Amino acid sequence: MTASLILVLNSGSSSLKSSVFDLQQNQEVFTALAERLLTPQAQLTWRTPESGKQTLDIAGADHTAAFGQLIAAMTNAGLNTNQLHAVGHRVVHGGEAFSASVRINDTIMNTIEQLAHLAPLHNPANAEGIRAVQRLFPDLPQVAVFDTAFHQSLPPAAYTYALPYAYYKDHGVRRYGFHGTSHRYVSAEAVARLDLDPESHRLITAHLGNGCSACAVKNGQSLDTTMGMTPLEGLVMGTRCGDIDPSLHDFLAQRTGLSLGEITHVLNKESGLLGISGLSNDMRTLMEAAESTSAEITEPQRARAQLAIDVFCYRLAKAIASLTVATGGLDALVFTGGIGENAANIRTQVVHHLSWLGLNLDVTANLSHGRDQMGLVSTTREPAVMVIPTREEWLIAQDTQRLVQASWDH
Ligand code: ADP
Repeated sequence: MTASLILVLNSGSSSLKSSVFDLQQNQEVFTALAERLLTPQAQLTWRTPESGKQTLDIAGADHTAAFGQLIAAMTNAGLNTNQLHAVGHRVVHGGEAFSASVRINDTIMNTIEQLAHLAPLHNPANAEGIRAVQRLFPDLPQVAVFDTAFHQSLPPAAYTYALPYAYYKDHGVRRYGFHGTSHRYVSAEAVARLDLDPESHRLITAHLGNGCSACAVKNGQSLDTTMGMTPLEGLVMGTRCGDIDPSLHDFLAQRTGLSLGEITHVLNKESGLLGISGLSNDMRTLMEAAESTSAEITEPQRARAQLAIDVFCYRLAKAIASLTVATGGLDALVFTGGIGENAANIRTQVVHHLSWLGLNLDVTANLSHGRDQMGLVSTTREPAVMVIPTREEWLIAQDTQRLVQASWDH
C-alpha cells in the first residue's frame, strides 16, 4: 500500500491548524485546530467528512503535546499514520532566501530561524511546528511553503521603500508581501477557468479575509502587492489599519502618551473595520448592522458600520486601480477569502468604483457568488470579475507532494 496522506500544518504562536489530504482520492479527509496552547483553556477540535465536530480538553499543552493529541485524534478517526507520506508547513516569512517551496533539512531550518527578526511572532512558531513533527516522526519528509515566496518576483521599483538605502541593505527593510499561496492559487485558477494564455495575462487578485491584500499578477508572476515589510501595510483589514501616514506614531505618542509598542498594538489589533465601526472586526456583523432596522442598533452605530464598509471598499478599489500600473491592463479581477467569496454587496461596491475600467457585475451571478458560472460574476469576460474560493492548504499539499516526489526521483 503506498502512503497517500499529506498532512498540512499551520503552526501559530498559540495555535496549530491542520488538514489531511488523501491525494489518491483527491479529498480532504481530516481537519483539526488546537487553540489557546500553553494555557489552561487549551482545546483541540477536529472533524472528518463522516464525523461531526469533536472536542478535547488539552489544558496546558504545548505544540508538541498538541501535535501528539492531534495524531491520536487522527488515528481514532480511522486514519493510519503509516499512510502519512509527508508534511507541508505554512511558513510566514521566507525573506529574500526563498522564492519557492522547499524540502526542509537542517540548513533550511536554520534559515527559517534566522529570518525570525522579520516575523517574530510567526517564524519561531512555524519552526516549533516543524520540530514537533520531527520529534514524533523523525523520518517523515517535511516541506516549507512560504507566504512571501510568490512575491519574490516583485521588481526593485515595487519592493523598495523610499528610505535611506542602508535600511534595506543592513536590515532587510523592503516590501515582501504575504498571502502568496492564496494569490498563487486563485490566479492560476482564474487563468485556467478563463482559458487565458499562461504566458500572457494581467490579473488583480484580492484576498479579503481577516487580513486583506491585493496582488498584481502578470504572466503568472506577482509584480506588486499591497502588504509590505509586515502584513500591516495596504488595505483596511478586520483590525489592522493598512496604509496610514507614517508620522502618526510620533503624533499619537505625543498626544496620547502611548508608547511605540502600544501604538503598534492599536494599529494591528484595534484599528481597521473594528476601529472605524467601534462595533466589530467581522464584515458580516457590520453588513448586518448597516442594514439593520432593529432598535438594538442605534443610528450612530449603523452609520459607523456603514462608514467602515465604505472606507474598506473605497480603499480596496483605489488599491486595485493602482495595481493596474504594474499589470498594464486588466483581464480579470479575482475576489477570494471569507469576504471576497461571500459578501456580494462588497463586490458590488468595489466594482462600482472601478466601472471606468470596463468592469460590470452580473447581478444574479454575483448574488450566487458565481457558483453556477465557474466563478464568473461579470457581464463580460474581457475584463472578467471572478469569485474563486481559495485553497491554500490544498496548494501546500500539492507542493509537498511534488517536492517529496522530486527528491525521490533524483
Ligand atoms: P481568515 O483570514 O481568518 O482565514 P476568512 O477568510 O474566514 O478569515 O474571512 C473572515 C471574514 O469573512 C470575516 O470578516 C467574515 O465576516 C467574512 N465573511 C464570512 N462569511 C461572510 C458572509 N456571508 N458575508 C459577509 N462576510 C462574510
